[in-house]
Amino acid sequence: MFGLSRRKEKKNIELPFLCWQCEMSAPNGCGTHGEEKGVCGKTGTKARLQDLITYGLRGLAAYREHARELADLDNPEDRKRLLEIDDVIGESLYFTLTNVNFNFDEHIQQLMKIGQAGVKVMDLLSDLHVRALGLPQPTEVPQNRAEKAKGILVSGHNLLMLKKLLQRIEERGLSDKIYVYTHSEMLPAHAYPELKKYKNLKGNIGKAWFDQTEIFAKWKGTIVVNTNCIVPPEKSSKVNEYIDRLYTYKVVGVEGAKKIENDNFDPLIDHTLQLPDIEGFESNEKVKTGHHYLTVLDYYGEKILKAIKEGKLKRIWVIAGCDAPGRARNYFRELALAVPKDHLIITSSCGKFRFNDVDFGFIPGTDIPRYIDLGQCNDSNGAVHLAFTVAKALGIEDVNKLPVSIALMWMEQKAILILLALLSLSIKDIYIGPRAPQFLNEDIYNFLKETFNLKVISGDIYKDFGQELAA
Ligand code: SF4
Ligand code: SF4
Repeated sequence: MFGLSRRKEKKNIELPFLCWQCEMSAPNGCGTHGEEKGVCGKTGTKARLQDLITYGLRGLAAYREHARELADLDNPEDRKRLLEIDDVIGESLYFTLTNVNFNFDEHIQQLMKIGQAGVKVMDLLSDLHVRALGLPQPTEVPQNRAEKAKGILVSGHNLLMLKKLLQRIEERGLSDKIYVYTHSEMLPAHAYPELKKYKNLKGNIGKAWFDQTEIFAKWKGTIVVNTNCIVPPEKSSKVNEYIDRLYTYKVVGVEGAKKIENDNFDPLIDHTLQLPDIEGFESNEKVKTGHHYLTVLDYYGEKILKAIKEGKLKRIWVIAGCDAPGRARNYFRELALAVPKDHLIITSSCGKFRFNDVDFGFIPGTDIPRYIDLGQCNDSNGAVHLAFTVAKALGIEDVNKLPVSIALMWMEQKAILILLALLSLSIKDIYIGPRAPQFLNEDIYNFLKETFNLKVISGDIYKDFGQELAA
């Protein structure tokens, strides 16, 4: 499939497409008998483009939900910005209704609208996080070290929930008894002043989401998963070792776990007090976070421009995205390690755990760190802001002319939205991996390649980036 995919597909996909959304569907769904078109005339390519639309919308809906939680609905500007996103969600769902649209170009336009809404929602979320929690500061966070006390481990992306929890622990006078730790995409929490001020927010435990079965089983306190990604009991029997200590929040849920209802954290806090003290996390590691794009511009903006002009900073790499199990993503660690010393690495999302244990130091002859963690996946907009700011300052009209290389890991539908957001800004030459999304077909992939030069990683960093790594 696609020729460039790293993994050899075992066999060709047998179904040109599958659609069973309307009554006219063939028995068992259009496509299940090898039909190349649905009863309505929908082709496999259109069906897959509509899948892509709905996947982009899922990512958009997740970010929209977090933005909604932080927004002030009495503020007309907040309402206007949310409505712009809601309009795209509504219109795009309507677009995928039976017998609405059979035009390829208009499917692409709709995808670009979703991408533009993705840019807007990430900007909105970023502004609302800063308004609620302050501007992140570069911060070193103790990793895999927990003090002997009662402990709550929080995983997910919902920073507002973490604030409410810390507030409630403080209100109950328990800040010196219950310590709170982050896991996976909650790591950037440590950099926000309004979270950092809680002295019982102690450190980060574990890496990307999928190590939760090991980490949560070892953690003897309570655990909260407040957004994706959660591992269900069906996936690992180890989940049963901690399911009675696991709490979920809002839309997140697995059978056997308890739900935090109406932001009432007292049952979780009371439960934590009954459990043993945390033991067995005694590492001396540290990880760095807190390079929100506004922080980077504030701290290093002028210095970065000067370093580029003086030839001290030669290339910027964006190596980011979702982590997932398997060795295929070692490619991204290998790439980060191979990046020359006078190049800068920008990252975000949980894929950073593939290489954030490395001390990348500073760009030689400057005090600019070589490793910049923008934050969560929704902070990926920061890379775009940095690129456009640098391009403007250097008088470069086309941002694609900047010496920037992009390698993205994708796992789920937030990453699809981020990819659509980048494409909607006409960003080209992106590599994605470890393999191509299975819902694309040859036609769509060829279109993306011809229009955006989108490529799938080969598995060999020198084959993909040999020139840039040598420069
Ligand atoms: S929308 Fe078209 S392709 Fe889908 S089930 Fe109905 S007839 Fe078949
Ligand atoms: S970056 Fe992606 S894979 Fe990682 S926790 Fe966030 S949504 Fe899940």
